[in-house]
Amino acid sequence: MGLGNATGAKAKTADLDLSARSPGGRVIALAGNPNVGKSTLFNALTGMNQHTGNWPGKTVAIAQGRCVLGPDRHVLIDLPGTYSLMAHSVEEEVARNFICFQKPDLVITVCDATCLERNLNLVLQTLELSANVVVCVNLMDQARRRGLQIDLKKLSGLLGVPVVGVTARKKRSLHALLQTANRALQTPRLAPAISYPEPLETAIARIAPRLEGLGLDLPSRWLALRLLEQDASLLETLRKRYGPVLDDPALAEALALTRRDLAAQGYETDALADGIVSELVSRAEKIAGLVCSGNGGAYSPLDQRLDRILTAKATGFPVMLLLLLVIFWLTITGANYPSAWLTALFSRVEGWFTGLFTAAHAPDWLYGILILGAWRVLAWVVAVMLPPMAIFFPLFTLLEDVGYLPRIAYNLDRPFQRCRACGKQALTM
Ligand code: GDP
Repeated sequence: MGLGNATGAKAKTADLDLSARSPGGRVIALAGNPNVGKSTLFNALTGMNQHTGNWPGKTVAIAQGRCVLGPDRHVLIDLPGTYSLMAHSVEEEVARNFICFQKPDLVITVCDATCLERNLNLVLQTLELSANVVVCVNLMDQARRRGLQIDLKKLSGLLGVPVVGVTARKKRSLHALLQTANRALQTPRLAPAISYPEPLETAIARIAPRLEGLGLDLPSRWLALRLLEQDASLLETLRKRYGPVLDDPALAEALALTRRDLAAQGYETDALADGIVSELVSRAEKIAGLVCSGNGGAYSPLDQRLDRILTAKATGFPVMLLLLLVIFWLTITGANYPSAWLTALFSRVEGWFTGLFTAAHAPDWLYGILILGAWRVLAWVVAVMLPPMAIFFPLFTLLEDVGYLPRIAYNLDRPFQRCRACGKQALTM
């Protein structure tokens, strides 16, 4: 058993090219919320920093690598970090479509041990969609530091799939994960179905059997729920891949009748989607409550205090504007000094070059092209562009590492939603 390497990949078709695996090799996907250490784990498992391309037809980054388990070379895919698979964003759509249609042999769902409850929502959605899941609870070192204990065995029992605790930064701790993944590839273990409130279960029971003979090769309970909540992006994808298979009049009639009955019980289309999400969230909360213990299990008092200040209506926006102003001021004013030093350095180098060209009696046109043209442009661009980038990006990274960027996204979610975008897009802006 060992670790392999990563290769950049750009598939041309709507599906990814997964041909890098060996004949016995399988496809393993890494799923997880953003910032749970998925890339760290991916790099450790593939033995190299990841190379990224774009998902076919999407502006979402993809990393594909090779992971060696025993005699087999598997393809490891780092799915985009998402909080759900409900396809509310391009990342969620890409992750969901990959699991649905490219059917990885194993999905390793990476969780953050320090906030398991939030991560379990995605785990539950993955269990509904994939027939072979291993849950990898990462950042166990951080959890220990905060005095948080997680009963991994109990978690595995409650979820019905293997669970492994790791510290992705320490390669030694990945051995158990590799062994578990290997075992899961040999003998997949299907998780028990998640049960929903009675009206939803009745609706699933009416629709799911009708989907089984359509040859869609998707979990019928999951698909029944998506059809009932009229998931437009999934319907469009299904139509593109399978043609009008879902336009069967009997199915359409059953869906219409079931939707009508659900609406009569208070599950209109939006309420239905909310009902499904609430069920998953409350189940995640319940499971986390059963397996997490120690004072780190709770949302820490410091985080609570910080959140109250950084996301409150009265203080959130002023603090955000002040911080951004400080960053821009540091970037713009601070960059002037290294810019001036670099300009002075480059003009001295230009002086040396000029001396060299004069001594060599180089023709004026050559001096013009190389020194007055190429060198000056290069020196100008580097002197002007490099210092602000070298200041701004580390500062921005610092904000991300201390957890402030998600708070900005939260603060700006409402104004951005008014423009039909979401708070996360504030970061790009
Ligand atoms: P991704 O967004 O899920 O791909 O997360 P990254 O791999 O970029 O990791 C997010 C941050 O968590 C980085 O600063 C990592 O160095 C850090 N990190 C990842 N795994 C661990 C771990 O096991 N322990 C600790 N303490 N930090 C980790």
